Amino acid sequence: MNTTTLTTTRQPEELTFKKWLLNIFRAVKTVSKGMGITLKYVYGVKPVTIEYPEVREILPENSRSRLFNDAENCISCYQCAVACPVDCIYITATKRDKDAPKLKASNGNPIRLDLHQYTIDTALCCYCGLCTTVCPTECLTHTTDYEFAQYTLDSMKYDYLAPDIRAWRDRIVK
Ligand code: SF4
Ligand code: SF4
Repeated sequence: MNTTTLTTTRQPEELTFKKWLLNIFRAVKTVSKGMGITLKYVYGVKPVTIEYPEVREILPENSRSRLFNDAENCISCYQCAVACPVDCIYITATKRDKDAPKLKASNGNPIRLDLHQYTIDTALCCYCGLCTTVCPTECLTHTTDYEFAQYTLDSMKYDYLAPDIRAWRDRIVK
């Protein structure tokens, strides 16, 4: 049985003076093109990033970020909790004593229930805004605060009757 073996050997290309000059020209052209793009982005293009946290984005007034309930004007109607598609609003309220002083929300709605708990689990909230839409006293609003990351899911439950919540709100909402 005959076997034929084919071998090819590539001869090195001869480097002429003309090719040497062409190589140099191509190298200079490629580096110049790359540096041109770099310089364009360094000097000619406005940056799209900011130096956070030294510089902060100012969100539009109507942005839907962290919720705030001005609990003094909440009439415990539960409408927000009913509207919430993910059931992340927890309210506990009891009927006010009939002899207790009459209370009204800032828009004149009578407050007939004592609010004992108003908590929103922001880890579940999808920021749809439905709860704020149905609130009859407009005490539940979105703020523009987007800096409320926490280390645990439990810390994402915000108690709007807690004493520090108004301090937080005054810091954020001007
Ligand atoms: S914004 Fe939407 S998901 Fe979040 S608490 Fe309100 S209704 Fe629920
Ligand atoms: S809809 Fe408004 S007033 Fe009613 S329970 Fe919710 S926050 Fe309070």
